[in-house]
Amino acid sequence: MAQLIDGKAVSKQIKEETAKEVLALREQGIVPGLAVVLVGEDPASKVYVSNKQKACKACHIESFGYVLPEDTKEEELLQLVETLNRDDKVNGILVQLPLPKHIDENKIINAISPKKDVDAFHPVNVGKIMIGDYDFLPCTPAGCMALIDSTGVDISGKRCVVIGRSNIVGKPMAMLLLHRNGTVTICHSKTKNLPEICRQADILVAAVGREKFVTADMVKEGAVVIDVGINRMENGKLCGDVDFDAVKEKCAAITPVPGGVGPMTIAMLMKNTVTAAKIQNSMK
Ligand code: NAD
Repeated sequence: MAQLIDGKAVSKQIKEETAKEVLALREQGIVPGLAVVLVGEDPASKVYVSNKQKACKACHIESFGYVLPEDTKEEELLQLVETLNRDDKVNGILVQLPLPKHIDENKIINAISPKKDVDAFHPVNVGKIMIGDYDFLPCTPAGCMALIDSTGVDISGKRCVVIGRSNIVGKPMAMLLLHRNGTVTICHSKTKNLPEICRQADILVAAVGREKFVTADMVKEGAVVIDVGINRMENGKLCGDVDFDAVKEKCAAITPVPGGVGPMTIAMLMKNTVTAAKIQNSMK
């Protein structure tokens, strides 16, 4: 049976360290602040936003919530982002995705000041990640890296396979593994012989969005398996992209869903907000 990688415990530790750092900053008169913008009524987004605000409270970070109606015009949202860009109390800006269809997500992401872009989605930050000289890491891949590190595995020289090539997870995840000298393959919906490629992985990251997509026959004995997927099963319960019960018998370490990558994403957001506050106060 594999080691269970406890995302709750690792994220708790990161949040506690962040909280201490924030208290020290507050003593110097610096109060890190995060603006969280939600447009519309998407139930999952509402939960994410509420969890992010709770985490801010636990880390002593000031949170500024903006809940806008579904029919908010793109121009209105752009104006809000512009106001937040200029607001000194706001160090980080998070616009919860997905946005309603009539709003161009790229336009909104591009409007956020790269210095306040705590999701690291702005092209400037994406470019910085590409060249390995970054201030912020995208929260989910950064969380995955922390979980891999928590197992004690040395990434250098390892065969790493990332399933999924989204801008939010797959691509930056592959880049972070590459920066740590992994030998990285990205698989996607057009990949041929996907199970065979996955079987070569010492470190396998699944970010597909399909229930139990990774089966035991796709996993190498002794691999580290990181499951990013969040899928809702017919019975209403959450499950990942990995067939957890079967794969755990074969791999060395595995993240559960829930309780794996999910809590890490929020912890990394808190960390990025503190980094943003430091940058904006010329402390970094
Ligand atoms: P996405 O839909 O943007 O990307 C999915 C990727 O999977 C695509 O690149 C696609 O090429 C690949 N894919 C789809 N079908 C495939 C197939 N049959 N074979 C191989 N590859 C295939 O999704 P995303 O935003 O990257 O998210 C992926 C999953 O991770 C989702 O379940 C999402 O809910 C979850 N997620 C979790 C967190 C977290 O905090 N835990 C954060 C972000 C996303």
